[in-house]
Amino acid sequence: MDYSVYKEKSIEGRYITMESIGSCLSKLSTAPIPIGDSVNGVEIKAFKLGSGDKKVLMWSQMHGNESTTTKALCDMFNFLGSNEPLAKNILKHSTLMIVPILNPDGAIVYTRENINKIDLNRDAKNLSQPESRALRELFESFEPDFCFNLHDQRTLFSAGKTNKPATVSFLSPASNKDRHITPTREVAMKLIVAMDSMLQNHIPGQVGRYDDGFNDNCVGDTFQKFGAPTVLFESGHYPGDYSREKTREYIFWSLLEALKTIVENRIDCFKTGDYFSIPNNQKLFFDVLILNPTIVNPEIETGHAVGIRYKEVLDGDKITFKPEIAEIGPLEEFYGHQTIECIDNKDFGFRTSQKEILDLLLNFNK
Ligand SMILES: [Zn+2]
Repeated sequence: MDYSVYKEKSIEGRYITMESIGSCLSKLSTAPIPIGDSVNGVEIKAFKLGSGDKKVLMWSQMHGNESTTTKALCDMFNFLGSNEPLAKNILKHSTLMIVPILNPDGAIVYTRENINKIDLNRDAKNLSQPESRALRELFESFEPDFCFNLHDQRTLFSAGKTNKPATVSFLSPASNKDRHITPTREVAMKLIVAMDSMLQNHIPGQVGRYDDGFNDNCVGDTFQKFGAPTVLFESGHYPGDYSREKTREYIFWSLLEALKTIVENRIDCFKTGDYFSIPNNQKLFFDVLILNPTIVNPEIETGHAVGIRYKEVLDGDKITFKPEIAEIGPLEEFYGHQTIECIDNKDFGFRTSQKEILDLLLNFNK
């Protein structure tokens, strides 16, 4: 199957809002189901597809600036509208309830939180925000057999203690403080193993496992506690792909693999033990790691390196990446998505496009 056929051409990059996915959603044969309004009065929409007995609830962009999975959902909508046998099989044996953007106000201003500055993924107990209540009410009325909680993670994560970025990470959230392996958690673990096995053929070593500390303010932990196997998806960095178009494709494949596993009744073909072989996410990456920066600025101690992380800034309808110094030190165990070694004090090994980084170094401690 050729992904490019199904890739929704009307959207790309990181800035994705209800407006930008409008043309994708208008192609759907099913009418949107209003599930509530955001703080700013934007209608939150769910889409019901398929008519099978296995019910899957998915929501994306509960964090407004985490849009990769929303793009992948649009691609999946296109696929499900095709004549592919897998598409037909998914729609025959499952009913999907999909919320492409749960936090439309946060999406517009490109923030994690909603417009009241509340993190909706820490609001599962209080349900203080209309977006949180909309999702909870949908969960209660739909009674899903499976939940997919769709997110993005920062570029800092590696898959284990390696120089491989965690391009995709998963978690079967804990449902109690002791992080017991309940039957519900096991189902989610097996689905993750199914997706990991597929992904290893495409991005070997670039799949990570997210931290499973229990927090009942988190939606995934709560739904898992209520007995619905819940999988957390985290879209991460693929080398050179700050627009997350490659990761988008791997999320598309992951969603299909999980649905395929569900509708073909193959969950028990996978082993819980293999879930624990997926390496834990580690925070080992900087966006840029600068070696030997002393040559540029003698204020920086000899032997130290500079770790730069990009801050994502909304500029019109584009996201720009503004470098900031995150850490200075030996940084021996760290990696850079880009590594710059300062060689001489004339051009410092920098290209003109990296002038912003050069200025950061020159102005450090001045
Ligand atoms: Zn998130």
